[in-house]
Amino acid sequence: MVKLARRMDTLPPYLFAALDERRRAVEARGIEVISLGIGDPDLPSIPAAVEAVQREAARAANHRYPRYDGLPRFREALARHYQRRFGVTIDAERETLTVIGSKEGLAHLIWAYIEPGDVVLAPDPAYPVYAAHTGLAGGELHLLPLRAERGFLPDLAAIPEDVARRAKLLFLNYPNNPTGATCDLAFLAEAVEYCRRHDILLVHDAAYVEMTLEGEPAHSALEVEGAKDVTIEFYSLSKPFNMTGWRLGAAVGNKEAVAALGRVKNNTDSGQWNAIQYAGAAALDNNPEVFFAQMNATYRLRRDRLFQGLDRLGWKATPPKATFYVWAPVPGGDDQAFAAQLLDAGVVVVPGSGYGANGTGYVRLCLTVSEYDIDRVLERLDGLRPSPFSR
Ligand SMILES: *Cc1c(COP(=O)(O)O)cnc(C)c1O
Repeated sequence: MVKLARRMDTLPPYLFAALDERRRAVEARGIEVISLGIGDPDLPSIPAAVEAVQREAARAANHRYPRYDGLPRFREALARHYQRRFGVTIDAERETLTVIGSKEGLAHLIWAYIEPGDVVLAPDPAYPVYAAHTGLAGGELHLLPLRAERGFLPDLAAIPEDVARRAKLLFLNYPNNPTGATCDLAFLAEAVEYCRRHDILLVHDAAYVEMTLEGEPAHSALEVEGAKDVTIEFYSLSKPFNMTGWRLGAAVGNKEAVAALGRVKNNTDSGQWNAIQYAGAAALDNNPEVFFAQMNATYRLRRDRLFQGLDRLGWKATPPKATFYVWAPVPGGDDQAFAAQLLDAGVVVVPGSGYGANGTGYVRLCLTVSEYDIDRVLERLDGLRPSPFSR
């Protein structure tokens, strides 16, 4: 066999690919499995997008390569959305770029900036893509612990000065996967100020910015005065519009960073299909706030149903105020063993250690199943013998 590149040693198997494999093994034993695993909405995409893609698919003009930087119609709709929703003025032409899902954009951005010796600051626990591509690119990861005592916000003041000096990128993600934590605008302002002081690009992953279950809507990092000097934000249509399969998002903000990402992408992919970008524009232009409100209400009901049950069981956890994730401390503290025990009982949860060392002792439960299935999950938890919970 041909020897793999050494950089492949830095790459763990993708967390959810490994989970899927274990799930199939349980199913092969005849156990029906309910998944609270991957964050993939169970409900249909926003109708405006479905209608638009059907219409645009029939137009021959859309059967050709899209523009490299993305369809202006989509990027202008996004800029209008940023103005309406966040009060942020965006130049669609120079400050936005279509990406094939924000995962793709986040990964490729790292290739534009990081070479061996460069430091990337990233949260722990976190979405695995930041660390994976930092490793592939030969960069050095400096992890910022997210702990319950600090509301799952990193302590930027604790980053050693010599590390900060070598750092080029700071990844943040609020509302947060996997903890469900939110941050206020003051924290984002602190991050912008930190990046300005240390000449670092702030990369804000805003995949859940529309998903608030309680309290004030979440903020774009670009709302911070002067943020565009040092910030690129990734907006995703996946979670808020139930469009994970469509692969559509955008990079927004600092124009040098947007252009650099565009240069990597021009040489890698040839963009997202125009029909899908028209669909994204339709989603953003057709009162998305009404859709968001319904979606968030659905997740709120599911969350409350789950927590009534967890309370009865004696499993103590804090209900999330945002996202569709429950980040729950594991009774006994061994998240791998606990997730394996639940999987044998037909329930998939993600062991927190899969998101980094500071995720150890937690599991992540995703609210992307019906209330009926939540009830069935609760029955299965109640049936565990010996019960891991103490009432
Ligand atoms: C789901 C998710 C993404 C990826 O979203 P796509 O736009 O579908 O690629 C990015 N970041 C976080 C934190 C996510 O949970």
